[in-house]
Amino acid sequence: MAENELQFDRVEGSAGASPCASCQRPLIGSYYQAGGRIFCRSCAKALEDTLHGTEGQAGRVLKATVWGIGGGIAGGAVYAAVLALAHINLALITILIGWLVGKAVRKGAGGRGGRGYQALAVAITYLSIGFFGTLGPVLSSAAESKGLLESALVCIVGAVIGPVLMGMGSILSALITVFGLYEAWKLCGAIHIEVTGPHVLAPVASVAPLQAPPPPRPPPPPPPPSA
Ligand SMILES: [Zn+2]
Repeated sequence: MAENELQFDRVEGSAGASPCASCQRPLIGSYYQAGGRIFCRSCAKALEDTLHGTEGQAGRVLKATVWGIGGGIAGGAVYAAVLALAHINLALITILIGWLVGKAVRKGAGGRGGRGYQALAVAITYLSIGFFGTLGPVLSSAAESKGLLESALVCIVGAVIGPVLMGMGSILSALITVFGLYEAWKLCGAIHIEVTGPHVLAPVASVAPLQAPPPPRPPPPPPPPSA
């Protein structure tokens, strides 16, 4: 007991007295480590919850889905416009769709990632490519003047089987679709940060009274007046 108290009172200078990387408060007694940074107990707990907790999961998945669909619509609108106006299948835009969807799903998920979000992003990207890849030709073939219902049905069917049909049409198109899907998958990958601790901190100076800073040096004497 007496030994512990003695250790507690020992002054160790300022070594090891780095603040928490998140709240900047000085670390006392113990610390936690994650991603090469050190955290206090409450910030480590918050980080752990953010990374692995299941609280609010349904809301995050819903938000990720809504954001992802928004990304798919934004990218898909460009795709459909190019198909309808320029009459070219600029398949590279599928990568743009995948990128937008991937970014949007990640944002909607509050920065999280993982297999579930990856699958979600890939599904939204696939359906967006199919839907808007079909919408372009449907819009441009106004001469045939299909009814609204029929056009909508064609686009819905196109959303499901369009990418496969396009892929069967040309290897290049299939590859680029795969790149688009991969982009979405990649952007929603899990973040691997492990939180470890508590680690024992060397006795910290803040426990003991701080040493007074050295007194300021007196100003140098004025130079003797030159003759
Ligand atoms: Zn903290």
